[in-house]
Amino acid sequence: MAFQLPKLPYAYDALAPHVSKDTLHYHHDKHHKAYVSKLNELIAGTNLEKKSLEDIIVATAKDESKEKIFNNAAQTWNHTVFWSSMSPGGGGEPGGGMMERIEKDFGGFDAFKEKFVKEAVDQFGSGWTWLVDDNGKLLIRATHDAMTPLAEGQSVLLTCDVWEHAYYLDYQNEREKFVKTFLDNLANWDYAASCLGFEPHEKVRRTGTRH
Ligand code: FE
Repeated sequence: MAFQLPKLPYAYDALAPHVSKDTLHYHHDKHHKAYVSKLNELIAGTNLEKKSLEDIIVATAKDESKEKIFNNAAQTWNHTVFWSSMSPGGGGEPGGGMMERIEKDFGGFDAFKEKFVKEAVDQFGSGWTWLVDDNGKLLIRATHDAMTPLAEGQSVLLTCDVWEHAYYLDYQNEREKFVKTFLDNLANWDYAASCLGFEPHEKVRRTGTRH
């Protein structure tokens, strides 16, 4: 069966004003959909047709002759993770085991945040900024174009799309403002924590008040 465009895990206006309804419509209904459609077209009738998306990504990552398939498969997967990486009322500091891991591997939440924003802003051209678990150690990664840490054996916990189409309507050229907003108001720490096997935890905001 062909791959399907997954539904957004929230309403199109649920992330406003941080990400507008218009941006989500364009980003999900046009950009993400185009990657899914192109992938289906490229793998139709090939031995990749029955493989999982993850297997296609790993199988084509190092094969230049399959670059188009890899790009569309990875972008299909990356966007699905990106939708899960945001939630209405998200952002701020995580709690519980997730926060302990951030403190252990980055020396504190502020240091994590500073590094994440720097990697996103320093990314030249299109790409993605990631929080990954690399064999038990959390790392921030920046990847170009469609490249994804999944292809390199790392477990993805969160991602921020830094292609211009992710933020241009709402933030124009101000990528830094978008990435800071992602961390302050959108990051879905419950999703990240669940990727590490932690239970969702009460979120502790920067102010210290619990929500
Ligand atoms: Fe995108």
